[in-house]
Amino acid sequence: MTFTLAIVGRPNVGKSTLFNRLAGKRLAIVDDTPGVTRDRREAMGNISDLEFRLIDTAGLEEGAPGTLSDRMRKQTEAAIEDADVTLMLYDARVGVTTMDEHFGAMLRRAKKPVILCANKCEGRAVQEGVFEAYTLGLGDPVPLSAEHGEGLADLYQFIVSAL
Ligand code: GDP
Ligand code: MG
Repeated sequence: MTFTLAIVGRPNVGKSTLFNRLAGKRLAIVDDTPGVTRDRREAMGNISDLEFRLIDTAGLEEGAPGTLSDRMRKQTEAAIEDADVTLMLYDARVGVTTMDEHFGAMLRRAKKPVILCANKCEGRAVQEGVFEAYTLGLGDPVPLSAEHGEGLADLYQFIVSAL
């Protein structure tokens, strides 16, 4: 079975780091179609035996702080639309920000399977930054470290459950 996973979230939470880790050495295909897909990358990825098509969203931070740029929102909405399951990343070391709340609202509106990923959870405990994410209303946050490859076994289980 092939399915599509989209990785979304505000800038700097580790989306591309997770994308690169899940895509492994496979060459990422850069989609340079004009419009909303301009900043999006796609590749095949896997966790163990679970294989999927992956979408990384980039999006440039524009406009006033705390607001979502139109471009970022459109790109995220397009990725959610294309995806069977969406991974919403946030930075558990920083905690939930206003911009994370905007993304959370977008995902709740979409009414499609979403897994909330608390990234940057390696090393010292960041429990507070994990628990406060329950306020996003997207279910249990899954602690991950995209950089160190931690939490992927739990992510595997969440993905399988969401399919
Ligand atoms: P994106 O803007 O969401 O695509 O984020 P990037 O993947 O570019 O990562 C932003 C920054 O966070 C980079 O400096 C990464 O090295 C760092 N980063 C990503 N994942 C982790 C992680 O699991 N732990 C830590 N400590 N840093 C991370
Ligand atoms: Mg990125």
